[in-house]
Amino acid sequence: QVTDTLAKEGPSSPSYDWFQTDSLVTIVIYTKQKDINLDSVIVDHRDDSFRAETVIKDYSYLVHVALSHEIQEDFSVLVVENVGKIEIVLKKKENTSWKRLGHPLENHNSFIPKKDTGLFYRKCQLVSKENVTHDTKLFCLMLPPSAHLQVPVGQHVYLKLPITGTEIVKPYTPVSDSLFSEFKEPVLPNNIYIYFLIKIYPAGFFTPELDQLQIGDSVSVSNPEGNFIICQLQELEDLFLLAAGTGFTPMVKVLNYALTNIPSLRKVKLMFFNKTEDDIIWRSQLEKLAFKDKRFEVEFVLSAPTSEWSGKQGCISPALLSEFLKRSSDTSKVLICLCGPTPFTEQGMKMLHDLNFSKDEIHSFTA
Ligand code: FAD
Ligand code: NAD
Repeated sequence: QVTDTLAKEGPSSPSYDWFQTDSLVTIVIYTKQKDINLDSVIVDHRDDSFRAETVIKDYSYLVHVALSHEIQEDFSVLVVENVGKIEIVLKKKENTSWKRLGHPLENHNSFIPKKDTGLFYRKCQLVSKENVTHDTKLFCLMLPPSAHLQVPVGQHVYLKLPITGTEIVKPYTPVSDSLFSEFKEPVLPNNIYIYFLIKIYPAGFFTPELDQLQIGDSVSVSNPEGNFIICQLQELEDLFLLAAGTGFTPMVKVLNYALTNIPSLRKVKLMFFNKTEDDIIWRSQLEKLAFKDKRFEVEFVLSAPTSEWSGKQGCISPALLSEFLKRSSDTSKVLICLCGPTPFTEQGMKMLHDLNFSKDEIHSFTA
């Protein structure tokens, strides 16, 4: 009932305050919510503009000021979860006393639906690029010290590059650096690297430009977006992941998170659709994980295999799905995640409805 009321009226607005010592200025945001963490706040400091966006459900609370004095580039962000308090600790450049925090900039102290806020970008540096398959690479970007941003599980960001004089943006879903990276809550602070698995399309508009970047070059990265919420995984017993091609990317963090943080989980099954064996992203890691963790199983389905392929063939079909989607018990709580080319996702959604899975049991990743 409480959730219903919140859904109709929206959460109540956070507020902020600030205090100082000789060397520090602390901005405190009182969110009035308990389920916040380091993902909930995105901080950017640029010249004298300071911006802290706190995301609460579908709303965004903004502290946006031109600071009255200079600060050092780096700062720290702390979250006191049980009281819903966020503290951003800034280091003064000079040990003088500030009479005020600064003057308000656009939308300062506003609490508005997230869909009404524009995308905000900061420049990140390319720190490494590694081949994963013949056409897919693992890109690692580093956030500037003047930013705090952690992309929540299941969400994507937009990357922006100037291409022939115009700024072009495309969405990409961050992954972990491997399927075996540590994934314990709370996520460590100062998590400054963001990893992406990106397929380069030689005739594509954006990806060949991205591929041209040299180590040290910059790419703008937006605030996260997406409608996956981690509580869809709570109390889950069976998790089914249906991924096609780079539609594997949102599954990476979902998979890591579920195996590490959901004690009720009995089974995670990934059905991974690709054209050929050479297209399978992180195949050996997936096979190793299935060997190491008995809850996890992976099945590869190829739409254009060579004659040597002895595994499953074809595209997504009711026959493949009904055989694959076996609950561990009649009443087990299940979630089926789907991601891939639009026709794949649309056909898959229809097949899942026909197989009598309810809307709550299906999540499709889209823009
Ligand atoms: P495009 O210019 O879009 O072209 C892609 C291919 O289609 C090329 O082969 C091109 O020749 C062909 N093509 C273009 N137009 C036509 C046409 N009219 N008719 C026929 N063929 C055409 N991708 C990833 O690799 N990793 C990710 O993590 C990832 N995450 C995503 C998250 C979301 C929410 C969404 C919506 C997409 C995601 N994508 C991801 C896809 C990504 O956003 C881009 O669409 C992709 O990188 C292609 O961009 P491009 O500009 O290089 O290619
Ligand atoms: P691909 O062309 O290599 O195809 C991979 C598999 O998808 C094929 O083997 C086939 O099984 C299936 N498939 C392809 N076209 C199909 C069709 N018309 N009908 C049914 N099944 C089909 O895939 P790719 O080039 O890696 O493309 C991946 C797609 O996933 C892109 O369109 C990308 O935008 C999308 N994507 C979306 C998100 C998201 O929305 N969150 C995230 C990542 C990727």
